Amino acid sequence: MVSPIVIIGTGLAGYSLAKELRKLDATIPIVMISRDAGDFYSKPMLSNALCAKKSAASLVLKSSVAMEEELSVRILSHTQVVKIDLQAHCVHLEGGGNQFYSTLVLAMGADPIRPVLEGNGVDSVLSVNDLGDFSLFEKSLAELEARNTSRNVLILGAGLIGCEFANDLLARGFNPTVVDVANRVLERLLPPQASRRLQTRLENAGAAFRFKAAVVSVNRSAAGLAVEFSDGTAMRCDLIMSAIGLKPRIGLAAQAGLEVQCGIVTDGKLMTSDPRVFAIGDCAEVGCSVLPFVMPIMFQCRALAATLTGTPTVVKYPAMPVTVKTPACPTVVCPPPSRAEGAWEVLEADDGLEALFSDSTSPDRALGFALQEKSVLKRQQMAARVAT
Ligand SMILES: Cc1cc2nc3c(=O)[nH]c(=O)nc-3n(C[C@H](O)[C@H](O)[C@H](O)COP(=O)(O)OP(=O)(O)OC[C@H]3O[C@@H](n4cnc5c(N)ncnc54)[C@H](O)[C@@H]3O)c2cc1C
Repeated sequence: MVSPIVIIGTGLAGYSLAKELRKLDATIPIVMISRDAGDFYSKPMLSNALCAKKSAASLVLKSSVAMEEELSVRILSHTQVVKIDLQAHCVHLEGGGNQFYSTLVLAMGADPIRPVLEGNGVDSVLSVNDLGDFSLFEKSLAELEARNTSRNVLILGAGLIGCEFANDLLARGFNPTVVDVANRVLERLLPPQASRRLQTRLENAGAAFRFKAAVVSVNRSAAGLAVEFSDGTAMRCDLIMSAIGLKPRIGLAAQAGLEVQCGIVTDGKLMTSDPRVFAIGDCAEVGCSVLPFVMPIMFQCRALAATLTGTPTVVKYPAMPVTVKTPACPTVVCPPPSRAEGAWEVLEADDGLEALFSDSTSPDRALGFALQEKSVLKRQQMAARVAT
């Protein structure tokens, strides 16, 4: 019997690959393995679910059973892969059992980075990276609402996810304070003027910010959580959420002997250091970059589906702008490559901001852009100008 293509992960990467494969081949056997329930949901909705009045249950778009039927695949849900055996071409499952593969695709996502903190309240720090996390978050908010006391939430990290949750918590009547060691919001993505505008709009809506400070300890007290900062100051809050970043899940790949760096290293065709194993999504480091966003995943899945059905294809990305889901200040950013040499040119008006990042050696070459408020309408036009 021919072994199937085995995909570890039923997140956006795993399911998008299965869908792309089915467009090209209706019969190729596919087995998907997930340690979670395998239900299909939109992860980006996790950080604007409160404003959309969604619960963890209503965020599920399709159950794993419905996905199994729709995609003609077999899904092993609540099944953790504990080992990859590259010689035997099989993966070992928790509790015993093996699954053989013809091709293995790692679509295992990333883990939230946990802040290193002192104190007896450290285990109360939440992070929201999947439906299960969101369910706990939702429960904690409901408990605070039921207690009818203060509703102060501390968010660690003033990046994209931290700012989105701050805006969403405001919509539910909570008071977010965002803390970051950086100097400003979305420091690595936006020019200073755009950071300032986003921060001001969120402050006007009721959020507070603290920069150049880190949380060093969290302790439980009768009045909630007592937090100490690296600058010696302190505050009390009722809930803490960490949004300081993600680290690709590389453990299984590293143990199996696959090349890993920040992520599971692949070439342009998404192939790892073993020719039968591929990696996509938040766990993959493709051509030296980990791109933990929806659009790169879509392009990776299309390219890999073509490769796995007989047309070797290198993934190519167009300009990939990201929408920052902060209704207080609609923002779209297409960040320049991390080591790009260049400068931002910023045009500000009362009702919008437009910024273009140009190459310092060739000023006509646009490498990135940021748009806010009314200017977000120029998204397509600006994306067309960015060199890829
Ligand atoms: C709150 C939030 C908001 C976001 N908003 C946006 C946005 O607005 N725009 C945007 O472009 N991107 C956004 N992103 C990023 C985007 O959602 C992710 O890049 C994408 O969903 C990652 O998909 P994935 O399939 O790689 O990983 P995941 O969805 O994390 O899937 C990983 C899968 O692997 C499985 N798994 C892991 N290890 C094992 C194992 N050992 N055995 C079995 N199964 C295993 C898990 O169970 C899971 O099914 C957001 C992310 C977050 C957290």
